[in-house]
Amino acid sequence: MTRTSAHLTRPTTDAATTDTVSDPHFDASTTAEHNAAPHKTATAANRSLAGGYTAWANRVRELAEQRNAVILAHNYQIPEIQDVAHHTGDSLALSRQAAETDADIIVFCGVHFMAESAKILSPNKKVLIPDARAGCSLADSITAKQLREWKAEHPDALVVSYVNTTADVKALTDVCCTSSNAVDVVNSLPADQEILFCPDQFLGAYVKRETGRENMHIWAGECHVHAGISAEQLTQQTQDNPSADLYIHPECGCANSALYLANEGLVPQERVHMLSTGQMITQAQKQPHNKVLVATETGMLHQLHQAAPDIDFQAVNDRAECKYMKMITPEALVRCLETETDEVTVDTNIADAARKSLEAMISIGNPGGAE
Ligand code: SF4
Repeated sequence: MTRTSAHLTRPTTDAATTDTVSDPHFDASTTAEHNAAPHKTATAANRSLAGGYTAWANRVRELAEQRNAVILAHNYQIPEIQDVAHHTGDSLALSRQAAETDADIIVFCGVHFMAESAKILSPNKKVLIPDARAGCSLADSITAKQLREWKAEHPDALVVSYVNTTADVKALTDVCCTSSNAVDVVNSLPADQEILFCPDQFLGAYVKRETGRENMHIWAGECHVHAGISAEQLTQQTQDNPSADLYIHPECGCANSALYLANEGLVPQERVHMLSTGQMITQAQKQPHNKVLVATETGMLHQLHQAAPDIDFQAVNDRAECKYMKMITPEALVRCLETETDEVTVDTNIADAARKSLEAMISIGNPGGAE
């Protein structure tokens, strides 16, 4: 059976996945470094910390130093975790940055596939995640078994996988892509080459439209958080805020709508930005207008406010929160550092094959920014 957008595949588990590589194209600006002492933030989680934020943050940094650990925080983590981390950013940039450090331990505050990616790119480092139950509905949209069956239906096709996939799926992939380089990756393949694109249907639809390819099959996976940011919400918000710019993550259910609004002239073309999370930070630093509607997980707003404090960033859907990302609590981070659990491992053969698909992406020339 050919699975296209007409065959929506729902996530079946709460589990998730990960990667590393050094290359001259790496743009360190996609991560925010926090070399100074962690600073205090004022959120509900902060106020509930026993002993206060500063005592907790000092304990985290003390343990990290004792273990020679580098703490990475994805942009969707709660502010306390983002602030205490050594590096904050998108998943692939963080993994690549961690690979270049001399840390013995990588603590990945994100979801499981991201920690897996860190392990793939740093096979000799110990990789920990504060809660191994932190999965991803998008990564779980396609299993290795399903991908094998899909490939069998299209034996001449090449597989292009978004980095939000498990190590098992990456190992069956010819070339990975990120939300910011997916169009370049597909365009780098011969025009007559059949392509299987997985797992995100919204990113796939965007790439297919941008490249104009007819020979590209799209898996019908989705992230439940991004899919829940709807066209109706975006349309309403743009009507309420007619002078705002739009930052849209291509995984969102409203991505097509954003392009429609631009194409129809309902929002000026130059105000509609399709961006990975890392690119959102870069765009915020040069943001010309004072109001921005942001379509992605709400944790992103913390980094955006820090990058451009004078800009009014507003979520298109302020309930777009990833419960998996929020499983990484301040308490879990301390436990992780104290006990060196939960460790994330990837079979050596799987890791080697998965690494090739990531390196194939990087060799195209634009490593891009992931979720
Ligand atoms: S926001 Fe969606 S794609 Fe990102 S980690 Fe959560 S479930 Fe996965």
